[in-house]
Amino acid sequence: PFDFQGRHVVVAGLGVSGVPAAKVLHARGAVVTVVNDGDDARAREQAAVLEALGITVRLGDGATLPEGTELIVTTPGWKPDKPLFLAAQRAGVPVWGDVELAWRLRGPDAAPWLAVTGTNGKTTTVRMLASILTAAGLRTAAVGNIGVSLLDVVLGEEQYDVLAVELSSYQLHWSPSLRAHSATVLNLAPDHLDWHGSMEAYARDKGRIFEGNQVACVYNVEDKATEDLVREADVEEGCRAVGFTLGTPAPSQLGVVEGILVDRAFVENRQKNAQELAEVTDVRPPAPHNIANALAAAALARAFGVPASAVRDGLRAFRPDAHRIEHVADLDGVGYVDDSKATNTHAAEASLAAYESIVWIAGGLAKGATFDELVARSAKRLRAVVLIGADRGLIRDALVRHAPEVPVVDLDRTDTGAMLQAVTEAKRLAVAGDTVLLAPACASMDMFTNYNQRGDAFAAAVRELGA
Ligand code: ADP
Repeated sequence: PFDFQGRHVVVAGLGVSGVPAAKVLHARGAVVTVVNDGDDARAREQAAVLEALGITVRLGDGATLPEGTELIVTTPGWKPDKPLFLAAQRAGVPVWGDVELAWRLRGPDAAPWLAVTGTNGKTTTVRMLASILTAAGLRTAAVGNIGVSLLDVVLGEEQYDVLAVELSSYQLHWSPSLRAHSATVLNLAPDHLDWHGSMEAYARDKGRIFEGNQVACVYNVEDKATEDLVREADVEEGCRAVGFTLGTPAPSQLGVVEGILVDRAFVENRQKNAQELAEVTDVRPPAPHNIANALAAAALARAFGVPASAVRDGLRAFRPDAHRIEHVADLDGVGYVDDSKATNTHAAEASLAAYESIVWIAGGLAKGATFDELVARSAKRLRAVVLIGADRGLIRDALVRHAPEVPVVDLDRTDTGAMLQAVTEAKRLAVAGDTVLLAPACASMDMFTNYNQRGDAFAAAVRELGA
């Protein structure tokens, strides 16, 4: 591991990743200064804990680079164009995120990482992957952006054979030396562009996941941008490009043939040219985008040497997380589905594609997105639309342009109680056989703490109307 003894390290940002990072760096002998923009009660509380250990904390000043800094360890969410980072760049000071720090601190015989990124499907794929690895009898965990700190895992007592790691584009941006055993970029669509600055920069950060891969770079045959990233990556000798497709697979791919998931990349018996993995009905829910997630998880597991039978057992044991195309109730022949996790247009398009006739509840924070393509492609499935949230006007304008015949209820509200009114309106508009779908295509923070709370509000409203 990296030697921090006597090094002057700045930790940028308190909070869930900054506080543990400061503590471990201090424990490894680094001279640590924490800088933080905010100066509120919570920050003061955290600062007091760190100061008691002998760590310097500067509150209300996250912009100035302290004299003599040799390394910055940043909270992944801090934007790259902050003055602190521009100063670091000028001074030649490296910047690491929480994932890079964990990578540098892992022990000599630490478990290899199977890494997953993409605009959508990361959490689902990582959970499927962990389930498959567990079915193969391996000691593993789903970690990273999924909500389990890699630093905790790397420094913890527990021994693992392999880790299923979810990485966000922010984390990848700040992970210069990370080298996975194998990795995948599931798909690539505009998201977080306000943070990365451009689609090119976003793609470049996602593509970092393939750098130095040892065994396989897994791409989506139906999303050419992901294949381009594999081609541009600098990998270990012998590392293979492996595609996954919802169609019939070519020899180096995994795909679907007559309702069976098959592998033509990692065939165990050389006499055969394909290995059967599982039935499409083993995947829950068996929506097209989710079968793609299952194939990506299978490809990574197979790259690690997992047998075909474990793929089937692992997929059967998998249960989706809450707020991801979650069926909440049926009222008067109308289905109510919570896909609150659809926080961007690409995710919303996947769930809108899974239903025929939809009353769509959408809106929230757009994060710089445009809605024309989503609305144009989904228009024929829409019975009606109910709009909520701060940026609902952007969706309303796209509807006017591409679906002028679809009735729209524009709730001029951003308070939490708006969800009950939205579901009430949706219920009024829906006809037996329809689906009322919460797939906001936007982030939730204008109205809710997070997408969980938004989904819970939807489910509570459905229950209230059903009672
Ligand atoms: P992430 O961790 O990348 O946010 P999740 O697995 O939590 O991904 O799913 C987020 C949302 O994206 C879900 O609401 C789901 O509808 C949608 N989704 C999941 N997988 C895909 C995919 N492969 N392509 C497009 N959308 C997807």
